[in-house]
Amino acid sequence: DRARRQYPAQAIVDLKTLRDNMAHLVEVCGGAHSGTAVMGVVKADAYGHGLIPAALAALAGGATWLGTAQSHEALLLRKAGIGPDRAHILTWVYSGAEVPFDELIDNDIDISVGSLPGIDGVAAAARRLGKTARVHVKVDSGFGRNGFTPQGFDAALAKLVPLAEEGVLDIVGQWSHLAVADAPSTPDFVAATDQQVRNFNDFTRRMEAAGIAPRIRHLANTAATLNRPEIHFELTRPGVGLYGYEPDSEMGTPRDWGLTPAMTLQAQLGTVKDVEAGHGISYGRTYLTPQDTSTAIVPLGYADGIHRSASGFDPQGAKHELKLGGPVRVMTNDGPRLYRVSGRVCMDQFIIDLKGRAADLGVQEGDTVVLFGPGRGDGFVEPTADDWARAADTISYEIFTCLRNRIPRLYL
Ligand code: PLP
Repeated sequence: DRARRQYPAQAIVDLKTLRDNMAHLVEVCGGAHSGTAVMGVVKADAYGHGLIPAALAALAGGATWLGTAQSHEALLLRKAGIGPDRAHILTWVYSGAEVPFDELIDNDIDISVGSLPGIDGVAAAARRLGKTARVHVKVDSGFGRNGFTPQGFDAALAKLVPLAEEGVLDIVGQWSHLAVADAPSTPDFVAATDQQVRNFNDFTRRMEAAGIAPRIRHLANTAATLNRPEIHFELTRPGVGLYGYEPDSEMGTPRDWGLTPAMTLQAQLGTVKDVEAGHGISYGRTYLTPQDTSTAIVPLGYADGIHRSASGFDPQGAKHELKLGGPVRVMTNDGPRLYRVSGRVCMDQFIIDLKGRAADLGVQEGDTVVLFGPGRGDGFVEPTADDWARAADTISYEIFTCLRNRIPRLYL
């Protein structure tokens, strides 16, 4: 209630749903004793869900690993009391001189190495501390982002082998990332994933031949965790699945995969008022009310992370093409109704055309409106982040990771 008074919108995260999603992903990987462990990917503040609560929910659901891109988030997990007895933690993106390698090693955090300076940095810190650093060798099997290429791998091995023999580095893992595993019905993309797997295995053979066989290999994101059981290896790394979404609409809906979206984004309506037909709504007059109606303010805008590209246009024959805006669910006298952003999303608010008189509909200032949630009801009634992604021409990941921290997160 306090958060509600402070701010007219809330992102409610159901931690039981997060836990259940993880428990389901663990089952998909063969259960707790299958030889495949599961990492909860909690980078970017757990995709906007809140780093620590989401990490604890993932562990409660059976994850034994946590993963973050930035080292600072890995350290926050340890600072929150998630010790090495509770979870392995892997961190993978760093650059330049600011990397706290010493602190990472001191906190028993596994470090990804995918460049020669990266190896040097980790090794120097391990020597300084007199401690063995746990590393995962990142290979570029075809994603074109981090990791050693086949051409550069001999130079990497030439550094890694003596450091492993000396006990400076413990080569715990070998890993890579998939580019198109979320498109299982596109033949070219299936072939590209198959090629990535072959490349990944080639790297393993080269490590084995050099005498540094990795104990843990990991390649699978949510998509491959769900649809490629043959490449689960010893560890999978689902991110978006933990939060209840499938990675791409080509894969259907969350429900098809036994997942439930964990976040509900809701707000309390601002001004509700009657307007005449032909009234211009918001910047640019991209929406003209088609008839006499009422409008309502939703007090969330692009400064909250609501995409301006989710604006809705209905200019009645003027210069903009008809475009559906992001959807919201409003309770009326006749039950829940779906409305869409009318006109441009502003910095702190957007407007919806209620398509009728608010008095008749029973809609008033202060009523709660849901932007997205788990899809309660029969799908169309409550929008999901996938619906917002379609309206904003992006992916669900961006919808929830963009939500700014000024929106209070409430936990169930
Ligand atoms: N592994 C790495 C290296 C990633 O960068 C990500 C996220 O992009 C994941 C795993 C999780 O991917 P997803 O959220 O698609 O499961």
